[in-house]
Order: sequence, then structure tokens, then C-alpha cells
Amino acid sequence: MEPKYIFVTGGVVSSLGKGIISASLACLLKARGYRVTIQKFDPYINIDPGTLNPYEHGECYVTTDGRETDLDLGHYERFTNVRTTKANNITTGRIYQNVIDKERRGDFLGKTVQIVPHITDEIKRNIKLLGNTGNYDFIITEIGGTVGDIESLPFLEAVRQLRWELEDNSLCIHLTYVPYLHAAKELKTKPTQHSVKKLQELGIQPDVLILRTEHDIPTSMRRKIAQFCNVSADAVIQSIDLPSIYEVPVAMHNQHLDDIILRKTGVTDADEPHMAPWLAFLDKMHNATETVRIGLVGKYVELQDAYKSINESLLQAATYCDHRLDLVFIHSEKINDSNAEEILSGMYGVIIAPGFGQRGIEGKFSALKWCREHDIPTFGICLGMQCMVIEFARNVLGLKDANSTEMNPSTAANVIDLMEEQKSISNLGGTMRLGAYECRLTPGSLAAKAYGSDSVSERHRHRFEFNSDYRVDFEKAGMACVGENPDTHLVEIVEIPGKRWFLGTQYHPEYTSTVLSPSPLFISFMRAAIAYATEKTTPVH
Ligand code: GLN
Repeated sequence: MEPKYIFVTGGVVSSLGKGIISASLACLLKARGYRVTIQKFDPYINIDPGTLNPYEHGECYVTTDGRETDLDLGHYERFTNVRTTKANNITTGRIYQNVIDKERRGDFLGKTVQIVPHITDEIKRNIKLLGNTGNYDFIITEIGGTVGDIESLPFLEAVRQLRWELEDNSLCIHLTYVPYLHAAKELKTKPTQHSVKKLQELGIQPDVLILRTEHDIPTSMRRKIAQFCNVSADAVIQSIDLPSIYEVPVAMHNQHLDDIILRKTGVTDADEPHMAPWLAFLDKMHNATETVRIGLVGKYVELQDAYKSINESLLQAATYCDHRLDLVFIHSEKINDSNAEEILSGMYGVIIAPGFGQRGIEGKFSALKWCREHDIPTFGICLGMQCMVIEFARNVLGLKDANSTEMNPSTAANVIDLMEEQKSISNLGGTMRLGAYECRLTPGSLAAKAYGSDSVSERHRHRFEFNSDYRVDFEKAGMACVGENPDTHLVEIVEIPGKRWFLGTQYHPEYTSTVLSPSPLFISFMRAAIAYATEKTTPVH
């Protein structure tokens, strides 16, 4: 079958959940046996979100081929189990950079380079790139931003042109917001009408409308919207707030979103979606009665999107272990040696978060010291693993000044140091050690048992590493290096054998954890936390 292109646009306000809707549709099409991928265009000028502060943009997600991307790509992978690549996230900055590079090479043969056609052609080329691989039946392209923004105009113009070129092999889903006015006790459709008009002014007629709402939208109101917006009545779908994002695919299927998409793109021989594994996951989520409390120590506690993939990995792991997750965010700047006990003693497992820079780092050491000494299941990720190493060096090896050269370039004990290949790099954008690398695991280690394998491939985003000059000292004192890169011997995993569960990874296992294929390491950590909770709460006779 020829590839079908589905464009997802948004109107009225931002943060409507276009990413979740796109991911839910992809989930349903995948469950019907189609090969699906989702791509996101971000209208900002940054080449990628890698240099953005989490306060601006939430978590930076990393693809296997080493692209720093928007956190929506994490949703795409979690919902579809399909790996994304650098072709799945493109920014305005990258489009312009490509066009300007071509201009400098003389590729435009003396022509004046313009937004139309050159920028729009580059956008179209990037959209079709995925379809041209022959690997996909459906390419879902999410246009970031809100209709009416200056920034998204070239993307919408490219969509208009493509819809014309692709004819029946494309369609547009427009996501809008239907506000509820409490004073009037009424849902209001006018913003949706205006938003669709705006899209029509740009030459795009949406085929499907998805209405985000906090209240049920009556059929009569949906019919009215259909009539005003030139959309068939059955293609006006509501997306009401649900307790979990993982329920959205089911809610969309119940309103026939996938049937409508197939019908409108001329696909007639589709099987019903095979949703049994997804529904089994939801059943576990709904039926769990016991709760497991996990503390996440990080410096962005007021901004939970900063740790999105970790939150979701924990939720998936807890669900598969038939527990509800009670995730407590602990501010690393507010924890110290004197209050660690009070803050942490109610936790059955503790995660030490990734991050950059000095702020909050001492709190991570205090948390780690308390967790190590009290044998709490503890999981350090990236900077969290580096902190495990530093805390151990300070308090077990007696290297009082131990640090990462990221925090103290002149430390006497640089147990975490800048990687050799990083020493000549000055640009910050896209220059970290990024993407998937192999990690060999020591047979019999906690990590090897968790994965049930002696080799794994996981994704990275860091500049600093364990300083192997200290490896023998650590191993003698009880911190084992149980995972390493087969080519460079870079230490990827440390653990303390004999503890309940005390392990740190230089890589980010949270990026690969999906609903249908949760991370074995998170599952193992969760089992340990639940076992510890059971032990702690069972009365001794
Ligand atoms: N700042 C550390 C480094 O660059 C850890 C990075 C991270 O946690 N992603 O090595």
C-alpha cells in the first residue's frame, strides 16, 4: 500500500495533548498490523532542544541514533513500541540550517532563496523522507504550536501543498479546545469554529476534529460543530480528561477514530486492532490496590515533565508488579544530612535523577549516604550514578574531596571526569555522548540478572564518566563495576553487591521503557522496592 500521511494540527491553546493523540492513533494503527511512525515538527529556531533548559521544554528525549529531541517522541515510543530516529523530530532551526547550507554550496544555482518554495520544499522533503524509506504504511506528522502562530506558517503551507499533491493518501486531524464556562454552566464551541476558520484561511480543510474538553460534549453540539466546520458529523470526536494517558487509545477507538482514518484514506481491508496486551496493562492498572512509594530526588521537582520518561517507566514497572505508584518528588536542594532520615524513611525505593551542574548536588549525596547506610533500594541514573560513585568515594574510600570535574574542575580526587573525546569540544549543541551504545554485563551481577542477558544496548546523554584509574579501589571497597562498553571499557553500571538493590547506570534506561515492553531494570528495582515494603510493613512475631 502507498504510504498514508496524517497531519495533526492544534488550535485555540497549546498543551492540548497533540502528542498523546498522535501516539494513541499510532498505537491503534499498529495494533491493526500497520507499520506506523510519528514525526514532530517544532517551530522554534533551536536546532534541537538539547541546549534548552528543562524549565523551557521539559525532558530532553534521546533517540537510538543520538538525536536530542522533544519529549513527545518519548510518548510515541511508549505508545507504539516503535523506535524513533533523528528523522522523527525536526525544528525550524534545522530546516533553515539545511536550506542555508545548500545556498552556501551554490545548490540553488543563483536563484533568490525564499520561504516559499525553498523552506516549504525542505519541510516537504523531511515529511516524505520517512514515507520514502518504504518502512511505513502511515506517517503521522504532528505540527507543533497553535494555528495562527507566525512561527508555524511555513509548516502549514507545506501541509497545504502536500495535501494537494498526495490527494487521498493524506488527511488532517485538527485538535481544538472546548472550554466550559462555570458561570454560564456552558460548553463553548466558538474558539473551535474560529480555529478551524483560521486553518481554512491557510487552505487546509481538516477531515477530523478532536475536541479536548473537561466535560462530555453532547451529540447535538458535535453536530453543530461539524456543520460549521465542513467536517462529517462522525468525525467530530471528543477527548475528555482521563485518569491516565494510557486510556486515550481506547477512548479514541471507542469513538472509531481509527476506522474513520482508514475509511478516509481508502483502506478497506483492515483487521480489528489487537489490543489485548494493552488492555491487560490497563486492567492491571485499574485493579492494583496496594501502593508502592518511591522518592525521586532531583532539582526540577516543581516541573514534573523534566523527568517524564522516568515517571512513566516507574508507572509501567509498578503496574506490571500489580501496584499503584505513589511517586514523591524530593527537592535535592532541600535535603541534607540532618533531615535525610525524616524525608526518606517513608520511601520503599529512591531514584537519584539525572542532571547537569552544581545546584542540588550536595542534597543528592546526603540522600545517597542515607539510602546506602540504611539499605534502601536505590537507583542512580546518569548524574545519579555519578553521584553514587562520588558519595562512595567520599564516605567509604575516605576521599573527602572526591567530585566530578563538572562540579569542581580542580578536585584532588576526580572520580568522575570529562571523557577524553569531550576535551577538544567547545560547542554545547549536540556534542555530548549521545544515543545507543552496547553495554556488556558481568554474569551473575544484579544488572545481568535483571536483564536476563549479558549484553544490552541503552541510550546515553553525558560528557563525564567514571574515572577508571579508581576502578580497583572501588571494587576492593565493595562497589562493583558490572557493566562496561566493549570498545572503550567505559564503566556503564555500578552496584553494591549484598545490598537489597543499589545500582547506578551511566545510561538512561528510562528512554527504552514502553507500555508493552517495560525496562527490565525498572521492573527489577520495583520488585526490590515492593519486597522491601512488604518486609517493612509485615509485623515481626
Ligand atoms: N552532567 C553529567 C554529564 O554530563 C550527567 C548528565 C546526565 O545526567 N544526563 O556527564
